[in-house]
Amino acid sequence: MIVDAIKKEISIVQIKKDLSLYNQLASRLGATHVKILETQEVILDYRAHYKCLVPKCRYYNTNANCPPHAPSFESITKFIACFSFALLVGLKVSSTVVSTSGGKEKDKDRIASRRKLSQILNELEAEAFYGGYYFATAFSSGSCKGTWCVDIPCQALENGKSCRFPLQARPAMEAAGMDVFKMITNAGWPIYPIGGRCQPDSIPYGMLVGIVFII
Ligand code: SF4
Repeated sequence: MIVDAIKKEISIVQIKKDLSLYNQLASRLGATHVKILETQEVILDYRAHYKCLVPKCRYYNTNANCPPHAPSFESITKFIACFSFALLVGLKVSSTVVSTSGGKEKDKDRIASRRKLSQILNELEAEAFYGGYYFATAFSSGSCKGTWCVDIPCQALENGKSCRFPLQARPAMEAAGMDVFKMITNAGWPIYPIGGRCQPDSIPYGMLVGIVFII
């Protein structure tokens, strides 16, 4: 990896060139869908954040990246306002992976898929960071507790301890209040509401989605 010295200013021409390189990198890493976004296309909706609370998700208050420890709605609003560009990244998966029914086998596939998306996001975040975009920050899909610390307690909630997976675990877009369904639909990618009542074979595929804020 080539590490550039921090520049006083990055021209818009250079930013667009770098965004295009990150877009290509995401595809090479296995992302099935990638879109460069202007950050006014990021949609925050207070109701998204409430989906973690009503009904209460099993990961609520179990780790440092899910509510009530995830960035607050007020804080994420201010954070996103500081950025101009982001990369929306999708990973198409089997509908059985994202369905809410199923046993251990499905859990194994779901964990592997979520880890794959996290790894793509992590690579993009690192590439941007070392390319001089030192505020680059990724948000992933689903809980880090169900992706990285499965069946073990969150270490980051213990006093004086940090996350076991600092380079991989990130808050989920939805936990931070982003309306992922709308953002994906606006990007022109088909996405389906998958819940306890839907049969996986009635849906063509599932989609895991993350975002990397670049500059
Ligand atoms: S220690 Fe594990 S559960 Fe806690 S924030 Fe890090 S990845 Fe998530």
